[in-house]
Amino acid sequence: MDMGIKGRKAIVCAASKGLGKGCAMALAEEGVDLVINARTKAELEATAEEIRKKHGVKVTPIAVDVTTDAGRKQVLAACPEPDIIVNNAGGPPPGDFRDWDRDAWIKAIDANMLTPIEFIKASVDGMMKRGFGRIVNITSSSVKAPIDILGLSNGARSGLTGFVAGLARQSRLASRNVTINNLLPGIFDTDRVTATLKGQAAKTGKSIEELKEARKATVPARRYGTLEEFGEVCAFLCSAQASYLTGQNILLDGGAYPGTY
Ligand code: NAP
Repeated sequence: MDMGIKGRKAIVCAASKGLGKGCAMALAEEGVDLVINARTKAELEATAEEIRKKHGVKVTPIAVDVTTDAGRKQVLAACPEPDIIVNNAGGPPPGDFRDWDRDAWIKAIDANMLTPIEFIKASVDGMMKRGFGRIVNITSSSVKAPIDILGLSNGARSGLTGFVAGLARQSRLASRNVTINNLLPGIFDTDRVTATLKGQAAKTGKSIEELKEARKATVPARRYGTLEEFGEVCAFLCSAQASYLTGQNILLDGGAYPGTY
């Protein structure tokens, strides 16, 4: 299916690897020009080159911390009139809520709530004027089914979800073909997940493979999600066809969420 977004311009945050890269790749496959960012310059530039070579689109890498004002300014300077924004950043660390002080909470809220809101604020009026806009926020299945040790993530991402639920439904956005949706990953095969498994292996004495198999067994699909399938759903949410789809939380979890709704 041609998604009708060839020649559009997208900002994809936190995209040198993992889910962000999956989204960047899928948008590039549709002919979208990209501004991608991450903090590690060499890795980001290598990803930019990989995307250019594979899909022949324009890719501008901006090596910044996207959770800072200065970082976001640089990204927006490289793409002042984005048609598409994929909001993403690293997730907060796990732990016990008794150990989290105000700084830990502010950091989580900055990364996983306020940074996406700042990008929305900077771009939505232009999108409305131009009559096309697609914003996708990468959040987490923890928004629907909280994960006890990820309280910082549960809290900060739920704040973003509540904000988006109200904004996306404003008729001045929806009637001008500007949509905002959230993509909620369950378990995907990324470096972040491997790092978590390494930590668990060190603690429990079990092998990474053993832990991975045990985790897979909790997913009805009996596997981890792939970056490609995550990216393809993101590209669909950004497509011309998805103009009537807004304010939704799309769970991509291989059937792991146990509820009816
Ligand atoms: P990943 O494989 O570790 O990739 C993270 C990407 O984000 C890298 O490109 C990283 O590059 C970049 N990044 C991190 N912090 C950044 C910052 N402050 N500014 C700019 N770029 C930054 O992680 P992932 O698994 O794709 O996860 C992406 C998001 O989805 C996270 O918030 C995670 O919590 C959430 N999530 C993931 C899963 C999963 O199964 N993978 C499930 C639920 C939720 P640099 O380090 O070089 O900046």
